[in-house]
Amino acid sequence: MFRLVCVECGKTFPPDEIVYNCTSCGHLLAVQYDLDTLNVDRGEWNRRPLSVWRYREILPVTIPPVSLKEGGTPLYHLSRIGKEIGLPYLYAKHEGMNPTGSFKDRGMTVGVSMALQLKKSSVACASTGNTSASLAAYAAKAGIPAVVLLPAGKVALGKVAQALMHGAKVISIRGNFDRALEMVHELCLSHGLYLLNSVNPFRLEGQKTIGFEAVDQLGTVPDRMILPVGNAGNISAVYKGFTELISLGLMDRMPMMTGIQAAGSSPVVRAVHQNLPEVIPEDHPETVATAIRIGAPVNAEKALAAIRKTGGTAESVSDAEILAMQKALARMEGIGVEPASAASVAGVKKLVEMGVVDRDERIVCVVTGHLLKDPETVIRQCEPPVEIDADLPSLLSALQLS
Ligand SMILES: *Cc1c(COP(=O)(O)O)cnc(C)c1O
Ligand SMILES: [Zn+2]
Repeated sequence: MFRLVCVECGKTFPPDEIVYNCTSCGHLLAVQYDLDTLNVDRGEWNRRPLSVWRYREILPVTIPPVSLKEGGTPLYHLSRIGKEIGLPYLYAKHEGMNPTGSFKDRGMTVGVSMALQLKKSSVACASTGNTSASLAAYAAKAGIPAVVLLPAGKVALGKVAQALMHGAKVISIRGNFDRALEMVHELCLSHGLYLLNSVNPFRLEGQKTIGFEAVDQLGTVPDRMILPVGNAGNISAVYKGFTELISLGLMDRMPMMTGIQAAGSSPVVRAVHQNLPEVIPEDHPETVATAIRIGAPVNAEKALAAIRKTGGTAESVSDAEILAMQKALARMEGIGVEPASAASVAGVKKLVEMGVVDRDERIVCVVTGHLLKDPETVIRQCEPPVEIDADLPSLLSALQLS
């Protein structure tokens, strides 16, 4: 059993109440389980396939879930990049290997299942792209309609393609993500659609399994988890999951939660560096990493707590650093990710250079979305293919062979 609890005032709400923010103080809600009466058997978990649903005892879904087989993503040792930046124990968890190519699927399998469990018949979200692609696919699997609001002209091509093909009603607004979220929130409250942005506490429940899997795959608790931060839901989710494993006696220490933002869109970094009690929103966030182009992170209060309570930190990286690391991951490790995803690894490189990260730390970087999400940014960075006449001499000359 679980309840929803306000993270600020502690007010509780029953599991079947449809509520996105505390009705007393307006702050975020979190799912709370009765962990001391819960019977979780690590051995039983280990017999199940590595996936979101391996951990179903600490997920809120009681009906057969709406699943496309999400999670179970690879954890790669970054041997070449690690060697170059001086980190022998550097790993990447490739969330681009989920059904629609981003970690958002972990949240959506739980979120859309909860929509059905709560007897909702339509779903909606605002999105920088990946949330809409994922919601569209899971709504299709559930057989219910989905509405998605996107900031016009600011969504990577692959993501729009997915949302359209999976049959969501796709609306582009002449405004940024933060405005799209306000609008869809109002729409859901007034017209009864179920809101599946990361203000929805159930989505974060699915996303926390990234951390569970990383611990299971590594066979030990990492010293540090590094995540790109947009709305700050994912870093909050992974932290919450770890607190639950510690309460259950399944983990003995907490990794340092570390968030990376793009320099042009870094309100969480500023709040951490200046030790502000809360995040000051940015009105005009700008970065090539469109998935984290967010000025007013919805889950900022949860993320600041996660970073501060674990002795973690936050840092920003430039677009040039992001794109250089995207290329390095692709060319040195064979790992294809979208720009936002490369921010976590670009961030660890910078933190090592700054002396913030120790060289013997065991570090898991979450790389959040697949290379094919944003082909336009890729094409802009690479030389186009060389076109030649269809004969061998032309081929040899193009390859500079004789
Ligand atoms: C959503 C997303 C993020 C940001 O995650 P938040 O939970 O909003 O902080 C980062 N990278 C990719 C690829 C995403 O889709
Ligand atoms: Zn409250």
